[in-house]
Amino acid sequence: MNSNNIAQLKQMLLSRVVSSEEITLDILRKIERSDLNCFIALLNGKEQAIEADKKIASVGTGKLLGVPVAIKDNMRFIGSVTTCGSALLRDAAPDTVDCEAVKRLRDAGAVIIGKTNMDEFAMGSSNMTSAFGYVHNPVDKTRVCGGSSGGSAAAVKAGLCYAALGSDTGGSIRQPSSYCGVVGLKPTYGTIDGSGMYALSQDMDQIGPITRTVDDNKLMYEVLSGREISLSSTSGLRIGLIKEFESFYSPQVMGVINRAREVLGNCNFTEVSCPTIGLAYYVYSVLGNIQSANNIRPLGDVADRNKLGNEVKKRILIGEYMIKHPQIAERAKEVKQIIISELDKALCECDVIISPTAPSCAFEFTADKKRKEIVYSDIFTQPASIAGLPALSVPCIEVGGLPVGIQIFGAKYSEGLLFSLGKRFE
Ligand code: GLN
Repeated sequence: MNSNNIAQLKQMLLSRVVSSEEITLDILRKIERSDLNCFIALLNGKEQAIEADKKIASVGTGKLLGVPVAIKDNMRFIGSVTTCGSALLRDAAPDTVDCEAVKRLRDAGAVIIGKTNMDEFAMGSSNMTSAFGYVHNPVDKTRVCGGSSGGSAAAVKAGLCYAALGSDTGGSIRQPSSYCGVVGLKPTYGTIDGSGMYALSQDMDQIGPITRTVDDNKLMYEVLSGREISLSSTSGLRIGLIKEFESFYSPQVMGVINRAREVLGNCNFTEVSCPTIGLAYYVYSVLGNIQSANNIRPLGDVADRNKLGNEVKKRILIGEYMIKHPQIAERAKEVKQIIISELDKALCECDVIISPTAPSCAFEFTADKKRKEIVYSDIFTQPASIAGLPALSVPCIEVGGLPVGIQIFGAKYSEGLLFSLGKRFE
Protein backbone atom coordinates (compact mmCIF):
# COMPACT_ATOMS: atom_id res chain seq x y z
CA MET A 1 0.00 0.00 0.00
CA ASN A 2 2.95 2.29 0.60
CA SER A 3 4.58 4.46 -1.99
CA ASN A 4 8.09 5.74 -1.79
CA ASN A 5 7.71 9.41 -2.40
CA ILE A 6 5.20 12.19 -2.02
CA ALA A 7 4.39 12.51 -5.73
CA GLN A 8 3.46 8.81 -5.94
CA LEU A 9 1.43 9.00 -2.75
CA LYS A 10 -0.47 12.05 -3.97
CA GLN A 11 -1.39 10.26 -7.17
CA MET A 12 -2.68 7.30 -5.19
CA LEU A 13 -4.67 9.59 -2.92
CA LEU A 14 -6.20 11.59 -5.76
CA SER A 15 -7.10 8.53 -7.78
CA ARG A 16 -8.56 7.03 -4.56
CA VAL A 17 -6.43 3.90 -4.66
CA VAL A 18 -5.94 4.59 -0.99
CA SER A 19 -7.26 7.14 1.50
CA SER A 20 -5.23 9.43 3.70
CA GLU A 21 -6.89 7.77 6.71
CA GLU A 22 -5.65 4.33 5.60
CA ILE A 23 -2.13 5.57 4.94
CA THR A 24 -2.03 7.46 8.22
CA LEU A 25 -3.31 4.54 10.29
CA ASP A 26 -0.80 2.29 8.59
CA ILE A 27 2.00 4.66 9.55
CA LEU A 28 0.73 5.00 13.13
CA ARG A 29 0.77 1.19 13.45
CA LYS A 30 4.31 1.14 12.12
CA ILE A 31 5.33 3.75 14.69
CA GLU A 32 3.78 1.67 17.46
CA ARG A 33 5.78 -1.37 16.38
CA SER A 34 9.01 0.58 15.85
CA ASP A 35 11.73 0.44 18.50
CA LEU A 36 13.70 3.38 17.08
CA ASN A 37 12.20 5.96 19.49
CA CYS A 38 11.80 8.60 16.77
CA PHE A 39 8.79 10.32 18.34
CA ILE A 40 8.28 12.22 21.58
CA ALA A 41 4.56 12.64 20.98
CA LEU A 42 1.90 11.61 18.49
CA LEU A 43 -0.80 14.06 17.42
CA ASN A 44 -4.38 13.68 16.21
CA GLY A 45 -3.26 12.27 12.85
CA LYS A 46 -6.35 10.17 12.29
CA GLU A 47 -8.70 13.17 12.62
CA GLN A 48 -6.50 15.28 10.34
CA ALA A 49 -6.47 12.48 7.76
CA ILE A 50 -10.27 12.18 7.82
CA GLU A 51 -10.47 15.93 7.17
CA ALA A 52 -7.96 15.58 4.33
CA ASP A 53 -10.02 12.79 2.77
CA LYS A 54 -13.08 15.06 2.81
CA LYS A 55 -11.08 17.75 0.99
CA ILE A 56 -9.76 15.22 -1.53
CA ALA A 57 -13.38 14.29 -2.28
CA SER A 58 -14.49 17.90 -2.64
CA VAL A 59 -11.80 20.38 -3.69
CA GLY A 60 -8.91 17.97 -4.22
CA THR A 61 -6.20 20.64 -4.07
CA GLY A 62 -3.36 21.28 -1.67
CA LYS A 63 0.26 20.50 -2.42
CA LEU A 64 0.50 18.09 0.52
CA LEU A 65 -3.14 17.14 0.82
CA GLY A 66 -3.40 13.96 2.90
CA VAL A 67 0.37 13.41 3.16
CA PRO A 68 1.60 12.27 6.63
CA VAL A 69 4.53 14.37 7.84
CA ALA A 70 6.27 14.91 11.19
CA ILE A 71 7.70 17.97 12.91
CA LYS A 72 10.61 18.34 15.28
CA ASP A 73 9.54 18.82 18.89
CA ASN A 74 10.88 22.37 19.11
CA MET A 75 8.04 23.66 16.91
CA ARG A 76 4.70 24.61 18.33
CA PHE A 77 1.54 22.79 17.37
CA ILE A 78 -1.77 23.91 18.88
CA GLY A 79 -2.73 21.63 21.76
CA SER A 80 0.62 19.86 22.04
CA VAL A 81 3.34 20.31 24.65
CA THR A 82 6.55 21.33 22.90
CA THR A 83 9.37 19.80 24.92
CA CYS A 84 12.53 20.59 22.90
CA GLY A 85 13.68 17.17 24.09
CA SER A 86 14.06 18.58 27.61
CA ALA A 87 12.75 17.51 31.02
CA LEU A 88 12.48 21.22 31.76
CA LEU A 89 9.52 21.53 29.37
CA ARG A 90 8.01 18.06 29.76
CA ASP A 91 5.10 19.44 31.79
CA ALA A 92 4.80 22.82 30.10
CA ALA A 93 1.40 24.21 29.11
CA PRO A 94 0.06 23.04 25.72
CA ASP A 95 0.69 25.36 22.79
CA THR A 96 -1.97 27.86 21.83
CA VAL A 97 -0.43 28.76 18.48
CA ASP A 98 1.20 26.88 15.61
CA CYS A 99 4.72 27.54 14.45
CA GLU A 100 4.47 29.49 11.15
CA ALA A 101 6.19 26.70 9.20
CA VAL A 102 3.75 24.18 10.69
CA LYS A 103 0.88 26.43 9.65
CA ARG A 104 2.21 26.35 6.08
CA LEU A 105 2.15 22.55 6.15
CA ARG A 106 -1.40 22.53 7.49
CA ASP A 107 -2.52 25.04 4.85
CA ALA A 108 -1.09 22.76 2.18
CA GLY A 109 -3.22 19.92 3.58
CA ALA A 110 -0.49 17.86 5.28
CA VAL A 111 -1.40 15.43 8.05
CA ILE A 112 0.94 16.19 10.92
CA ILE A 113 1.26 12.90 12.74
CA GLY A 114 3.76 13.59 15.47
CA LYS A 115 6.63 15.44 17.04
CA THR A 116 10.07 13.96 16.66
CA ASN A 117 12.77 13.31 19.21
CA MET A 118 15.76 15.64 19.29
CA ASP A 119 18.87 16.58 21.20
CA GLU A 120 17.91 18.69 24.20
CA PHE A 121 17.30 22.27 22.99
CA ALA A 122 18.87 21.21 19.67
CA MET A 123 22.31 21.01 21.27
CA GLY A 124 24.08 17.93 20.03
CA SER A 125 25.00 15.75 17.10
CA SER A 126 23.78 12.32 18.19
CA ASN A 127 20.34 12.66 19.81
CA MET A 128 21.99 11.27 22.94
CA THR A 129 21.30 14.48 24.87
CA SER A 130 17.50 14.06 24.63
CA ALA A 131 15.66 13.60 27.93
CA PHE A 132 13.39 11.18 26.04
CA GLY A 133 15.98 8.54 25.26
CA TYR A 134 18.25 7.71 22.36
CA VAL A 135 16.96 7.47 18.78
CA HIS A 136 18.37 4.46 16.96
CA ASN A 137 19.62 4.74 13.42
CA PRO A 138 17.30 2.73 11.14
CA VAL A 139 20.28 1.65 9.02
CA ASP A 140 22.08 0.14 12.03
CA LYS A 141 20.37 0.22 15.40
CA THR A 142 23.63 0.08 17.33
CA ARG A 143 24.46 3.52 15.98
CA VAL A 144 23.30 7.06 16.56
CA CYS A 145 20.99 8.77 14.09
CA GLY A 146 22.83 12.09 14.33
CA GLY A 147 21.41 15.31 15.66
CA SER A 148 19.89 17.40 16.64
CA SER A 149 17.04 16.65 14.20
CA GLY A 150 17.80 12.94 14.51
CA GLY A 151 14.25 11.80 15.23
CA SER A 152 13.09 13.50 12.02
CA ALA A 153 15.81 11.97 9.84
CA ALA A 154 15.35 8.50 11.33
CA ALA A 155 11.55 8.67 10.97
CA VAL A 156 11.82 9.60 7.28
CA LYS A 157 14.33 6.84 6.61
CA ALA A 158 12.24 4.24 8.46
CA GLY A 159 9.07 5.13 6.56
CA LEU A 160 7.36 6.51 9.69
CA CYS A 161 6.36 9.65 7.74
CA TYR A 162 6.84 10.95 4.21
CA ALA A 163 8.74 14.04 5.20
CA ALA A 164 9.72 15.79 8.40
CA LEU A 165 10.74 19.22 9.53
CA GLY A 166 14.07 19.70 11.20
CA SER A 167 15.90 22.79 12.36
CA ASP A 168 19.51 23.54 11.63
CA THR A 169 21.77 25.98 13.44
CA GLY A 170 25.16 24.46 12.73
CA GLY A 171 24.30 21.26 10.91
CA SER A 172 21.30 19.75 12.68
CA ILE A 173 19.35 18.93 9.51
CA ARG A 174 22.29 18.01 7.29
CA GLN A 175 24.32 15.80 9.62
CA PRO A 176 21.48 13.46 10.69
CA SER A 177 20.37 13.31 7.04
CA SER A 178 23.87 12.15 6.16
CA TYR A 179 23.92 9.59 9.00
CA CYS A 180 20.50 8.16 8.11
CA GLY A 181 20.75 8.28 4.32
CA VAL A 182 18.05 10.85 3.55
CA VAL A 183 17.89 14.27 1.90
CA GLY A 184 18.08 17.36 4.12
CA LEU A 185 18.01 21.05 3.25
CA LYS A 186 19.12 23.96 5.39
CA PRO A 187 17.54 26.75 3.35
CA THR A 188 18.78 30.29 2.81
CA TYR A 189 18.50 32.07 6.14
CA GLY A 190 15.15 33.82 6.47
CA THR A 191 13.28 32.08 3.66
CA ILE A 192 11.16 29.98 6.04
CA ASP A 193 9.40 31.78 8.85
CA GLY A 194 10.57 30.23 12.11
CA SER A 195 8.20 32.10 14.44
CA GLY A 196 6.79 29.67 16.96
CA MET A 197 9.93 27.57 17.10
CA TYR A 198 12.08 27.63 20.23
CA ALA A 199 15.22 29.50 19.27
CA LEU A 200 18.67 28.06 19.86
CA SER A 201 20.57 30.84 18.12
CA GLN A 202 18.19 33.00 16.10
CA ASP A 203 20.94 34.43 13.89
CA MET A 204 21.61 30.97 12.48
CA ASP A 205 18.49 28.83 13.16
CA GLN A 206 16.66 27.75 10.05
CA ILE A 207 13.79 25.31 9.64
CA GLY A 208 14.07 22.94 6.69
CA PRO A 209 12.70 19.72 5.19
CA ILE A 210 14.03 16.17 5.49
CA THR A 211 12.77 13.76 2.83
CA ARG A 212 13.55 10.56 0.97
CA THR A 213 14.04 12.21 -2.43
CA VAL A 214 15.29 15.53 -3.77
CA ASP A 215 11.97 16.16 -5.54
CA ASP A 216 10.10 15.72 -2.27
CA ASN A 217 12.49 18.13 -0.63
CA LYS A 218 11.90 20.72 -3.32
CA LEU A 219 8.15 20.36 -2.94
CA MET A 220 8.34 20.74 0.84
CA TYR A 221 10.63 23.76 0.51
CA GLU A 222 8.22 25.39 -1.95
CA VAL A 223 5.36 24.90 0.48
CA LEU A 224 7.35 26.16 3.46
CA SER A 225 8.90 29.19 1.77
CA GLY A 226 6.21 30.11 -0.74
CA ARG A 227 8.94 30.33 -3.39
CA GLU A 228 8.71 28.63 -6.81
CA ILE A 229 11.94 26.74 -7.41
CA SER A 230 13.05 25.82 -10.91
CA LEU A 231 15.59 23.19 -11.77
CA SER A 232 18.33 24.00 -14.23
CA SER A 233 21.00 22.37 -16.35
CA THR A 234 24.11 21.45 -14.40
CA SER A 235 26.43 20.83 -17.30
CA GLY A 236 29.60 22.92 -17.18
CA LEU A 237 29.01 24.18 -13.65
CA ARG A 238 32.06 25.11 -11.61
CA ILE A 239 32.24 22.89 -8.52
CA GLY A 240 34.40 24.33 -5.75
CA LEU A 241 36.43 22.32 -3.25
CA ILE A 242 37.66 24.25 -0.25
CA LYS A 243 41.36 23.63 0.17
CA GLU A 244 41.30 24.14 3.95
CA PHE A 245 38.60 21.46 4.38
CA GLU A 246 40.95 18.78 3.09
CA SER A 247 42.74 18.17 6.36
CA PHE A 248 39.36 17.28 7.89
CA TYR A 249 38.44 14.60 5.31
CA SER A 250 38.70 11.30 7.15
CA PRO A 251 39.42 8.19 5.06
CA GLN A 252 35.80 7.18 5.84
CA VAL A 253 34.27 10.10 3.96
CA MET A 254 36.98 10.89 1.40
CA GLY A 255 35.08 8.73 -1.11
CA VAL A 256 32.43 11.47 -1.34
CA ILE A 257 34.75 13.67 -3.37
CA ASN A 258 35.75 10.81 -5.67
CA ARG A 259 32.13 9.91 -6.22
CA ALA A 260 31.27 13.53 -6.96
CA ARG A 261 33.98 13.68 -9.61
CA GLU A 262 32.41 10.62 -11.27
CA VAL A 263 28.77 11.73 -11.02
CA LEU A 264 29.47 15.31 -12.06
CA GLY A 265 31.80 14.37 -14.88
CA ASN A 266 30.56 17.17 -17.13
CA CYS A 267 31.25 19.87 -14.51
CA ASN A 268 34.52 21.65 -13.83
CA PHE A 269 36.14 21.09 -10.45
CA THR A 270 38.13 23.93 -9.03
CA GLU A 271 39.98 24.53 -5.78
CA VAL A 272 39.02 27.57 -3.74
CA SER A 273 40.56 28.92 -0.57
CA CYS A 274 38.94 30.14 2.65
CA PRO A 275 41.92 30.49 4.99
CA THR A 276 39.85 31.39 8.06
CA ILE A 277 37.23 28.65 7.75
CA GLY A 278 38.82 26.52 10.48
CA LEU A 279 37.64 29.18 12.94
CA ALA A 280 33.95 28.60 12.07
CA TYR A 281 33.68 26.47 15.22
CA TYR A 282 34.89 29.36 17.36
CA VAL A 283 32.44 31.85 15.82
CA TYR A 284 29.60 29.33 16.09
CA SER A 285 30.20 28.52 19.72
CA VAL A 286 30.81 32.05 20.96
CA LEU A 287 27.86 33.67 19.19
CA GLY A 288 25.64 30.60 19.41
CA ASN A 289 26.14 30.00 23.12
CA ILE A 290 25.48 33.65 23.98
CA GLN A 291 22.13 33.52 22.23
CA SER A 292 21.30 30.08 23.68
CA ALA A 293 22.01 31.27 27.22
CA ASN A 294 19.77 34.28 26.68
CA ASN A 295 17.04 32.13 25.13
CA ILE A 296 16.94 29.45 27.82
CA ARG A 297 17.24 31.78 30.82
CA PRO A 298 13.56 32.88 30.79
CA LEU A 299 12.24 29.31 30.50
CA GLY A 300 12.47 28.39 34.15
CA ASP A 301 13.72 29.65 37.47
CA VAL A 302 17.14 28.70 38.78
CA ALA A 303 15.80 25.66 40.64
CA ASP A 304 14.48 24.28 37.36
CA ARG A 305 17.96 24.27 35.91
CA ASN A 306 18.57 20.97 37.69
CA LYS A 307 16.27 19.42 35.14
CA LEU A 308 18.62 20.36 32.32
CA GLY A 309 21.08 17.87 30.93
CA ASN A 310 24.84 18.35 31.13
CA GLU A 311 25.34 19.52 27.56
CA VAL A 312 22.81 22.30 27.95
CA LYS A 313 24.14 23.31 31.37
CA LYS A 314 27.65 23.46 29.97
CA ARG A 315 26.66 25.62 27.02
CA ILE A 316 24.67 28.00 29.20
CA LEU A 317 27.70 28.44 31.46
CA ILE A 318 29.90 29.16 28.47
CA GLY A 319 27.30 31.59 27.12
CA GLU A 320 27.00 33.41 30.47
CA TYR A 321 30.78 33.73 30.62
CA MET A 322 30.89 35.19 27.10
CA ILE A 323 28.13 37.65 27.99
CA LYS A 324 30.30 38.92 30.86
CA HIS A 325 33.31 39.28 28.55
CA PRO A 326 31.88 41.12 25.53
CA GLN A 327 35.27 41.56 23.87
CA ILE A 328 35.18 37.83 22.98
CA ALA A 329 31.91 38.26 21.08
CA GLU A 330 33.25 41.39 19.38
CA ARG A 331 36.22 39.41 18.09
CA ALA A 332 33.95 36.51 17.04
CA LYS A 333 31.80 38.95 15.04
CA GLU A 334 34.90 40.20 13.22
CA VAL A 335 35.98 36.66 12.40
CA LYS A 336 32.43 35.92 11.24
CA GLN A 337 32.67 38.78 8.72
CA ILE A 338 36.01 37.49 7.48
CA ILE A 339 34.55 34.00 6.94
CA ILE A 340 31.54 35.49 5.13
CA SER A 341 33.72 37.50 2.76
CA GLU A 342 35.99 34.54 2.10
CA LEU A 343 32.94 32.46 1.18
CA ASP A 344 31.56 35.29 -0.99
CA LYS A 345 34.85 35.45 -2.85
CA ALA A 346 35.01 31.66 -3.22
CA LEU A 347 31.47 31.63 -4.61
CA CYS A 348 32.54 34.08 -7.32
CA GLU A 349 35.16 31.60 -8.43
CA CYS A 350 32.73 28.67 -8.49
CA ASP A 351 28.96 28.06 -8.66
CA VAL A 352 28.65 25.75 -5.65
CA ILE A 353 30.92 24.25 -3.02
CA ILE A 354 30.86 20.56 -2.16
CA SER A 355 32.23 18.57 0.76
CA PRO A 356 31.28 15.51 2.76
CA THR A 357 28.36 16.57 4.98
CA ALA A 358 30.15 15.39 8.11
CA PRO A 359 33.65 14.10 8.86
CA SER A 360 32.36 10.64 9.84
CA CYS A 361 29.56 8.09 9.43
CA ALA A 362 27.03 7.40 12.17
CA PHE A 363 29.01 6.24 15.20
CA GLU A 364 28.13 3.61 17.80
CA PHE A 365 26.38 4.63 21.02
CA THR A 366 29.37 3.34 22.88
CA ALA A 367 31.91 5.19 20.73
CA ASP A 368 34.53 7.00 22.70
CA LYS A 369 34.49 10.33 20.92
CA LYS A 370 37.65 12.28 21.41
CA ARG A 371 37.52 15.99 22.14
CA LYS A 372 38.90 16.93 18.71
CA GLU A 373 36.33 14.79 16.91
CA ILE A 374 33.53 16.45 18.83
CA VAL A 375 34.83 19.96 18.28
CA TYR A 376 35.22 19.46 14.55
CA SER A 377 32.15 17.29 13.92
CA ASP A 378 30.29 20.29 12.44
CA ILE A 379 33.26 21.73 10.59
CA PHE A 380 31.74 21.30 7.12
CA THR A 381 28.25 22.48 8.05
CA GLN A 382 28.91 25.50 10.28
CA PRO A 383 30.27 27.86 7.59
CA ALA A 384 26.99 27.91 5.59
CA SER A 385 25.12 28.50 8.86
CA ILE A 386 27.30 31.42 9.81
CA ALA A 387 26.89 32.97 6.36
CA GLY A 388 23.15 32.19 6.01
CA LEU A 389 23.75 30.21 2.82
CA PRO A 390 21.54 27.34 1.59
CA ALA A 391 23.08 23.86 1.93
CA LEU A 392 21.74 20.49 0.86
CA SER A 393 22.82 17.03 2.03
CA VAL A 394 22.11 14.14 -0.32
CA PRO A 395 23.08 10.47 0.17
CA CYS A 396 26.27 9.93 -1.81
CA ILE A 397 28.24 6.81 -0.83
CA GLU A 398 28.09 3.92 1.61
CA VAL A 399 30.98 2.91 3.82
CA GLY A 400 30.60 -0.50 5.42
CA GLY A 401 26.87 -0.33 4.77
CA LEU A 402 26.55 3.12 6.37
CA PRO A 403 25.36 6.12 4.36
CA VAL A 404 27.46 9.24 3.90
CA GLY A 405 26.02 12.42 2.46
CA ILE A 406 27.49 15.00 0.18
CA GLN A 407 26.90 18.61 1.14
CA ILE A 408 26.31 21.06 -1.70
CA PHE A 409 26.09 24.72 -0.81
CA GLY A 410 25.89 27.92 -2.79
CA ALA A 411 25.03 31.60 -2.79
CA LYS A 412 21.85 32.82 -1.14
CA TYR A 413 18.65 31.70 -2.92
CA SER A 414 20.51 29.08 -4.99
CA GLU A 415 18.24 26.23 -3.81
CA GLY A 416 17.22 25.45 -7.43
CA LEU A 417 20.83 24.85 -8.35
CA LEU A 418 21.42 22.71 -5.25
CA PHE A 419 18.39 20.54 -6.01
CA SER A 420 19.44 20.19 -9.66
CA LEU A 421 22.87 18.95 -8.63
CA GLY A 422 21.48 16.85 -5.78
CA LYS A 423 19.25 14.93 -8.19
CA ARG A 424 22.30 13.66 -10.03
CA PHE A 425 23.30 11.61 -6.98
CA GLU A 426 20.01 9.71 -6.89
N1 GLN B 1 25.73 19.78 16.35
C1 GLN B 1 25.62 21.20 16.46
C2 GLN B 1 25.56 21.61 17.89
O1 GLN B 1 25.52 20.76 18.73
C3 GLN B 1 24.47 21.69 15.66
C4 GLN B 1 23.23 21.94 16.40
C5 GLN B 1 22.15 22.51 15.57
O2 GLN B 1 22.32 22.76 14.39
N2 GLN B 1 21.01 22.75 16.21
O3 GLN B 1 25.58 22.77 18.21
